[in-house]
Amino acid sequence: MVTACFGGSAASTSLSRSALCLRRLPLACRFPSLPPFLLRPFSPIRAALRSTGLAASRRCADKNPESRARKSIFPEEDFVVANFYKFVTIEDPEAVVAKHLDFLQEWDIHGRIYINEQGINAQYSGPNGDVLAYTDWVKKDHRFSNLLVQVSPACDGHAFPRLKLRYKPSLVQMEGGTAHLPLVDDAMRAHPLTPSEWRERLQAMDDFGISTSKADSQGSVRKHLLLDVRNGYEWDIGHFQGAQRPNVDCFRSTSFGLSNVEVASSDPLAKIDKENTDILMYCTGGIRCDVYSTILRQKGFQNLYTLSGGVSNYLNTEGSAGWMGNLFVFDARLSLPPSFYKPGANDSAFAKPELVHGNSAFARCYVCGSKLLEYRHRNCANLDCNRLFLSCSICVSQLSGCCCLDCTCSPRLRPVLPGHQRYQKWHMYRGCE
Ligand SMILES: [Zn+2]
Ligand SMILES: [Zn+2]
Repeated sequence: MVTACFGGSAASTSLSRSALCLRRLPLACRFPSLPPFLLRPFSPIRAALRSTGLAASRRCADKNPESRARKSIFPEEDFVVANFYKFVTIEDPEAVVAKHLDFLQEWDIHGRIYINEQGINAQYSGPNGDVLAYTDWVKKDHRFSNLLVQVSPACDGHAFPRLKLRYKPSLVQMEGGTAHLPLVDDAMRAHPLTPSEWRERLQAMDDFGISTSKADSQGSVRKHLLLDVRNGYEWDIGHFQGAQRPNVDCFRSTSFGLSNVEVASSDPLAKIDKENTDILMYCTGGIRCDVYSTILRQKGFQNLYTLSGGVSNYLNTEGSAGWMGNLFVFDARLSLPPSFYKPGANDSAFAKPELVHGNSAFARCYVCGSKLLEYRHRNCANLDCNRLFLSCSICVSQLSGCCCLDCTCSPRLRPVLPGHQRYQKWHMYRGCE
């Protein structure tokens, strides 16, 4: 069980470590005199249902021996973050959305859950008991029975401000959407490698992942390319040693995959031998590789492999071998060190420190370029920019939390946030103008 919370470096949060630990104690331990019904997180809908007896009956129905046998390393009351996705044909996505909304009415789940004709993509947080209840219920649908659900501890209650559960034309953010891609066809996606297989492949490459050519037992030359398909700002705080990125951020504003324009010559995919190069691609949880690999498959790349469950699954099972830095996550936690996933994993001792220090883009202040010790982004204080960027403490102070001089002149400036806090709604700061 993880007993401490590391949303980045705990030492620099605004809360002391002891305060964080206290927050992570089950409510029943912190407030032993409170009656049990007050110990559950407040949910107005659940409270209303409880008053009618509906919630109680549904909850009782769920407390069967099979459910009680569910195994989890986290106590029921502890908040956790879970995610899963599945590409599968769904004939009636709107009906599935309605079913999920109905089920979740009585559970304390926040997050982003998107469903369409190509499947489901979910990232959510809640008390572990509620997260387990939803996960178990989803798996009863035969289309989702073999989901890989990844669960990690939340830092301070919910990691998402509210629940957004709806039909979405594209399960990942991508200009032009994904409806034109054959995502539900297993053969079009990259071949998934388990984390241990991935680790073996990395170890087989010279020096953990440097793009290499090697003769196999038959004497034919095989080339490897380790490809990071995440965004630049995710790469900047952590990535696999020896990995490369495509020239464009595939999952932001780009028409990559839609046009027939060839990739730029500086792109690692340019001039690659599409038949004899093994492309090992990874992202945070796996979904972006599944999308990107169908695009590459359509472009003629034949040997595509992906890290099953993404980096989070790897850090969870294999630790930090071959990985340097932190993992960017798309929730309130923003940045997680490897030890968060696997206590004991070494966050700072990289196998090849010279690769880290020689990497000009890695963990540097976006403003002055100085080397950073803390791998954690902040949002630009200019509300109309809101850019996620890395900054040293001197630049934070000199630019009042902004990413550039221009932003410091913005009409909608928010105050510099101390520690790891995230900005709230604009009306909270309107008086600070
Ligand atoms: Zn700086
Ligand atoms: Zn800015």
